[in-house]
Amino acid sequence: MTSATPIRTVEEHVQLVLGRIAPPEPIELALLDAQGLLCAEEVLVTEPMPSFANSSMDGYAVRALDVADAAEDNPVVLPVVGDVAAGSRTAQSVAHGVCVRIMTGGPMPSGADAVVPVEWTDGGVARVSITRSATKGNYIRRIGEDARTGDVAVTVGTPIGPAQVGLLAAVGRERVLVRPRPRVVVISTGSELVEVGQPPAYGQITDSNSYMLAAAARDAGAEVYRAGIVPDDKRRLLDMLQAQLGRADILITSGGVSMGAFDVVKEALREFGTMEFVRVAMQPGMPQGFGTLGDRDTPVYCLPGNPVSSLVSFEVFVRPAIRMMLGKRRLFRRTVAAVLSQGIESPAGRRQYRRGLLHRDEDGYSVAPVGGPGSHLLANLAQANCLIVVDEAVTEVPAGEPVTVLPLLLSGG
Ligand code: AMP
Ligand code: MG
Repeated sequence: MTSATPIRTVEEHVQLVLGRIAPPEPIELALLDAQGLLCAEEVLVTEPMPSFANSSMDGYAVRALDVADAAEDNPVVLPVVGDVAAGSRTAQSVAHGVCVRIMTGGPMPSGADAVVPVEWTDGGVARVSITRSATKGNYIRRIGEDARTGDVAVTVGTPIGPAQVGLLAAVGRERVLVRPRPRVVVISTGSELVEVGQPPAYGQITDSNSYMLAAAARDAGAEVYRAGIVPDDKRRLLDMLQAQLGRADILITSGGVSMGAFDVVKEALREFGTMEFVRVAMQPGMPQGFGTLGDRDTPVYCLPGNPVSSLVSFEVFVRPAIRMMLGKRRLFRRTVAAVLSQGIESPAGRRQYRRGLLHRDEDGYSVAPVGGPGSHLLANLAQANCLIVVDEAVTEVPAGEPVTVLPLLLSGG
């Protein structure tokens, strides 16, 4: 990457990237796997809910006329001629002057037009003494009172949460068409990298980016695959990309995109027509590669290798794309305004993302910078819960001034 490399603003790069994102086709998933996704079909109610009249209380199914005069000082005593439990399938009927004991959810016996809850009675088994009158329809769940045949149960674009899962089950759907989770493949590049758990020799470091980016992608709603580490070798990188493209809706590499002599990702991919390696006016995360590769025009992000640069780049450029693929309406996190507790400096002409600790008290939000601007400071990153965003034109923000903050811990949303 030379100083002749084009430079663009964060907004320009975001727009360019999002312009290349096409959501995957809807797929049918088992009900529980659909949780958290957007419904991609209009699901109709096929049977009225409830489909039969039933009692909403434990009590006695009666004819309302028979208990019209019941009162504390004038109990009406009726013989109990049967029992209806929930799930009971024997047809029962209630004639004048008698009643049937009924449980919540039990089908209403023919002839009965009201339920007297057990609380209004002496709870009798052979005969019951009723001390309150009940009007017609009392404690009866009517056919179709919840939903009628042909009603829309779940519309296209509805997020499927627990209640929607319940409703879909209630209308008999074992599977439902949804906007799928995009499959995100993460590849780490760098000859210095070793797999986690393998002791690094002098000069080697553990690959943390592929875990971190996979976790970030999953947090954004993707299904993630860690493809592992590729050394700084053009052939091996291309082989790895080739092998992984088939299962990726988004491919992310980290490392190898800056100005070093062995920045293989840039060297290997710049010759592919749609891939661009640019400078984005931000700190960290200035070198960025993006384009599409393969038969399906899979978006490929080549993020810088420093852990903080990688995660900030993901946050700014990849997370909105994953949300777009999921069909979410809101692509970007909500920012909050917070008072800066300690002054910071920022490079002119670049948007700075500083790690911070956001805190809320009675007076509102305040934020303290965590560590310095160094993009290798992973431990500091892990202590932070937000990014402090300092605009391109601003070079200094004194303590006490308001700043824009991107809270990081609130996933989903
Ligand atoms: P690069 O972008 O390849 O020039 O790497 C920049 C810095 O990030 C170097 O110090 C790398 O060792 C480090 N780095 C690159 N990839 C990873 C990774 N996967 N995990 C942790 N650190 C990395
Ligand atoms: Mg490298």
